[in-house]
Amino acid sequence: MEFVSDRVKSLPPYIFSQFQQRKKQLEAQGRDIIDLGIGAPDLPTPDFIINELKQEAEDPINHRYSSYHGCYEFREAVANFYQEHYDVDLDPETEVLALIGSKEGLANLMTAITNPADDVLIPDPGYPVYQSAIHLAGAKSQYFKLHPDKGYQPQFQSINSQLLHRAKLMLLNYPSNPTAATAELSTFMEAISYAKKYNFAIAHDAAYSLVTFNQYRAPSILQVEGAKDIAVEFGSLSKSFNMTGWRIGYVVGNKEIIRALSVVKSNTDTSQFLPIQKAAAKALNSDFTIVKEHNSIYQQRMEKIIPALQSLGLNVTKSMATFFVWAPVPEGFTSMEFAESMLEEAGVIITPGVAFGPSGEGYFRISLSVPDDRLEEAVLRMKKLKTGGVNQA
Ligand SMILES: *Cc1c(COP(=O)(O)O)cnc(C)c1O
Repeated sequence: MEFVSDRVKSLPPYIFSQFQQRKKQLEAQGRDIIDLGIGAPDLPTPDFIINELKQEAEDPINHRYSSYHGCYEFREAVANFYQEHYDVDLDPETEVLALIGSKEGLANLMTAITNPADDVLIPDPGYPVYQSAIHLAGAKSQYFKLHPDKGYQPQFQSINSQLLHRAKLMLLNYPSNPTAATAELSTFMEAISYAKKYNFAIAHDAAYSLVTFNQYRAPSILQVEGAKDIAVEFGSLSKSFNMTGWRIGYVVGNKEIIRALSVVKSNTDTSQFLPIQKAAAKALNSDFTIVKEHNSIYQQRMEKIIPALQSLGLNVTKSMATFFVWAPVPEGFTSMEFAESMLEEAGVIITPGVAFGPSGEGYFRISLSVPDDRLEEAVLRMKKLKTGGVNQA
């Protein structure tokens, strides 16, 4: 370990990998494991996007470096998307930046705007990458709690005001991974007014903005008047268009933050392969019927799993967005114990809530990104566990 930096050595342990290792061992023993821990779509990328990639890949003009900000077609497609979906004006030159997936952008954002030991406010429970990215950049993460009885909305008045004064940046994420909580514009309005009062920036992670059900439409934080003064929003094609492996996303909003981030990126990665950007532009310029089709598949899966979980005595409700179900663990279990017993006894991987921060204790996350027959099988096994295992444990 002599050559490994303190920053890397002191990274918090990745709880997911522990279950993946155990999964491999059990599979080697011939056990069939259903993995409801994976936070990525199981469905393929739509054909029209793949065809565009193929076509663009044939053209030598696309084999060169992309411009640092990403190609104009992609940035323009993002700006058009914001105009049509949110009625938000964006200048493709200065207010849109292409990313190699939103995770890349979130990680580089920390280097772009924080100084060593700066405080960054992050949701608890929340996406674990925030904490690691802040740590790797040498800044300090500070949790703000999200309570189930407050709909997992930030309670700004209960965040220490010293901390609000010190904070450089706050991260928000709606619709949320892992809680599947959604926000209305009023949450963003309050966030923007606190950020202006206490002088911190806001980065809204909108990775699930298009994975929504029924009439619900997730707002953009940029719909709040004056949001661009202090906020950026991260978007991704990974979840909406089943493009996780393509690595394409974007950040929009405040010019200075975007410029700072593009300085880091121009010295690091020189943007994404042009045919991928152009295929993603095609996706954003489409009519989004394909996204609705994906969403209805998740919704059908949710209709199946919710009653099954309820029959186990778990208090769960349908969410309006994301492909996650966030549920309380049965009485008498920590979230780790419950996840371990689900894997050992039922052969089903779920994610213990504690993996998302201390306030995730007492909950677990199920991902609906497995084919229907596997999901049904997982439900059957859980029911068996209820009668044969969990209850007696
Ligand atoms: C999946 C996910 C991301 C990362 O998406 P990419 O664009 O593929 O990097 C970001 N935030 C949350 C909350 C996610 O679940």
